[in-house]
Amino acid sequence: VSREFRGGNHSHVKIGDVTIGEANIVLMSGPCSVESREQIIGIAKEVKKAGASILRGGAFKPRTSPYAFQGLGLEGLKLLAEARKETGLPVITEIMDTKQLEMVEEYADCLQVGARNMQNFSLLKEVGRSRLPVMLKRGMSATIKDLLMSAEYILAEGNFKVLLCERGIRTFETYTRNTLDLNAVPVLKKETHLPVVVDPTHGIGLREHVASMAVAAVAAGADAIMTEMHNDPEHAKSDGEQALLPHEFQDLVARVKKVAEAVGRSL
Ligand code: PEP
Ligand code: MN
Repeated sequence: VSREFRGGNHSHVKIGDVTIGEANIVLMSGPCSVESREQIIGIAKEVKKAGASILRGGAFKPRTSPYAFQGLGLEGLKLLAEARKETGLPVITEIMDTKQLEMVEEYADCLQVGARNMQNFSLLKEVGRSRLPVMLKRGMSATIKDLLMSAEYILAEGNFKVLLCERGIRTFETYTRNTLDLNAVPVLKKETHLPVVVDPTHGIGLREHVASMAVAAVAAGADAIMTEMHNDPEHAKSDGEQALLPHEFQDLVARVKKVAEAVGRSL
């Protein structure tokens, strides 16, 4: 994963027909969980309307409590594929287990390995053998080096289409859900050739502050931003308190655009 390996250059990764790691900033958005056809298609249309180019949505959810909503599974994957058909947006979704690879590959354009699985080495090896790109999220107690070594597992199996995602780490601070470690952005851009994604939604966990951290991430050099959006956050089955409403996401896009231009990038 080291930049030296690429002669000091950065690489880019394609998700569907969207390229990440070039001059433009890529926006990914969608609900934490796919909940119903109406919900995912409605939100997908809002994602597209706001100018984002990749749809996110969880079908397999790594919940802290086994009694919390675990995701729609295969049905959720099928609904994501329907939303892609409806909007043309490529889809990223989480894979939690090696047994899910074939199924997820059939419906998704990019695999997400979540924070809780960053060091699930058998899963990393398995997605390393996939034809799909992989977004690897930083574990909540993982160092930057740990993240890079986990990415190495995927590349070592032959899959070079890897995105690194900073999504906040656990610190002594409890006001916010996590502490978004923006230090990781310039460090990763220096150390590795891989594109860097920032998820300010899980990073701060509070809807009203997500846009500020998205802007900060772009200023710090992120190549893409992933946020959660919901049409009815109060009734969301997961992570409602941090989901943006569609109009709030549109405001975020406008703010990100200005900062992107200020740092010589575009949306
Ligand atoms: C998510 O993207 O909804 C998610 C579960 O993220 P993380 O793995 O970063 O907690
Ligand atoms: Mn979530």
